Order: sequence, then C-alpha cells, then structure tokens
Amino acid sequence: MSEVDESVSTLRAIVELDQEQRRVAGLRDAAIRELDGLLASGAPQRKSHRDIDAARERAAALQAATATANERRRALLQDLSSPLRKRYESLVRLGRWPAAVALEDGYCGGCHLRVQPRAEIQLSEVGGTRACPHCQRLLLPGRSSEVRDA
Ligand SMILES: [Zn+2]
Repeated sequence: MSEVDESVSTLRAIVELDQEQRRVAGLRDAAIRELDGLLASGAPQRKSHRDIDAARERAAALQAATATANERRRALLQDLSSPLRKRYESLVRLGRWPAAVALEDGYCGGCHLRVQPRAEIQLSEVGGTRACPHCQRLLLPGRSSEVRDA
C-alpha cells in the first residue's frame, strides 16, 4: 500500500470510529439520564434498586467502551501525518462532521457541492490527501469516482 492509500484507510477507520463513538455517547447519555431519573424518583423499592443497578452497569460499560475507543482513536491518529492529523482534528472541532467524506461522481460528500475537474487540480493537498475547495473536508476516494492524480 502506498502512503496515500494508507492515510485514506486510516482516515476511513477514524471516521467509522468517530461515528460509532457518537452512537455510544448517545447511548451512554441515555443510560445516565435513566439512572438520574430512577434516583430522582424516590421511594426506592426492590425493583427500582435492581433497575438502578442495571442502569449503573450499563452506563459504566458504555463509559468503558468509550475509553477503549478513545485509545484506538489516538493510536490511529498517530498513524496519520502531522498535517493530516491536525486538519482532521480542526475540522472535527469546527463541527464539520464527518470531517472526511467520499468524493462521489465529482461531488463532495460533505457539502454536496461539485468539485469541478478544474478545481480538482487545485485541491489543496494535505499530507497526500485532498480537501474540498468549498468546505475543506478531507476527500476520500468514493465508490464511483476515484480521486485521481491529475
Ligand atoms: Zn465540500
């Protein structure tokens, strides 16, 4: 695998992981809300104690899953070149989600604007990976259109 291919597959793995993380964070927040609700409901009965324990365990398991995924994310990010890593992280911070998208039939998978063939030549290169000229998201080769070298 070339360095660029490796960057692309690492980026894909990070995006997938970040997507999964968002899902897990939602589940964890729901478990914590449920736990808070149970604790606030007062008049603890045997059944609600069991519910509280179960909700507590669920929240703890989801928290542990998040920690494991964070470790893996850190390791994957270390595999990226420094400019690529910084670009990805700053896009995530700016709320450009997902920060790396597929270029499908010449359209950016993030902002859905056409990446003109002419502009494609001018796409800024970040560590061998191209970025959308409109939204700056990192572009990954899509199923139907590869990001080809001009
Ligand atoms: Zn875009």
